[in-house]
Amino acid sequence: MSWFVRKDKGIQTPTEMKREAPDGLWYQCPNCKKIMHTREHKLNAYTCVHCNYHEKIGSDAYFSILFDENQFVELDATMTSADPLKFTDTKPYPDRLRTTINKTGLKDAVRTAYGPMNDITVTIACMDFGFIGGSMGSVVGEKIARAIDHALQNKTPFLMISRSGGARMMEAGFSLMQMAKTSAKLALLSEAGLPYVSLLTDPTTGGVTASYAMLGDFNIAEPGALIGFAGPRVIRETIGTDLPKGFQSAEFVLEHGFLDFIVDRKDLKDKLSSLFKMLQ
Ligand SMILES: [Zn+2]
Repeated sequence: MSWFVRKDKGIQTPTEMKREAPDGLWYQCPNCKKIMHTREHKLNAYTCVHCNYHEKIGSDAYFSILFDENQFVELDATMTSADPLKFTDTKPYPDRLRTTINKTGLKDAVRTAYGPMNDITVTIACMDFGFIGGSMGSVVGEKIARAIDHALQNKTPFLMISRSGGARMMEAGFSLMQMAKTSAKLALLSEAGLPYVSLLTDPTTGGVTASYAMLGDFNIAEPGALIGFAGPRVIRETIGTDLPKGFQSAEFVLEHGFLDFIVDRKDLKDKLSSLFKMLQ
């Protein structure tokens, strides 16, 4: 028997009578379930003060963490996708784009910008998972290619922050072409002797892992990030055997030689700027 029983059914409270709890004042860590103040969480670079869980964040947060005083100039901020294949899944692709743009306030799954980071000018491309799973379509590829051009012209280091489910199926072959395009641009950056660091965050998979995310002079990752090409279920079904524990975690990938180091987000800015100073 419960302590309290509701006697009357269908009690409705008008909206103006509802008590307002300030929205988003507290943050509950999805890993250790402990609660902290959102301000404290933000000051801690969106990592848990108890267990160091790295919350998944987007370009807005990364730019504010990395650029000095959040000062940056965004590149190609208005570029949006066309619908070259007239693609329809559960809804037509242009509708999906429109809804996602309205919902997220983003134009596509990557934002590119340049600005000072500990007084060094850097060009950064940062993916947003909130935009159709951070999928790489023609806009993502083109914006990254142009950001690399910007780095080449202005002789700045280039940082790519990846967070993606892979290629965007609604653009099929056009998405796959972005792998070659971005890789070719990165080769030009390398020829010019400009440093490229690739940061893989949770999750980085598919065509993104198979192209620009793994082409850094340094490939680095955040702790616990899922990094892979195909998902574990697909691999398990293909090879017909169980996968080792921690398979496709940043720590596992590091141990097997695919990463240079894992960086705590709180140290990211300082580590990157000293790395760029060394490589310049
Ligand atoms: Zn935690």
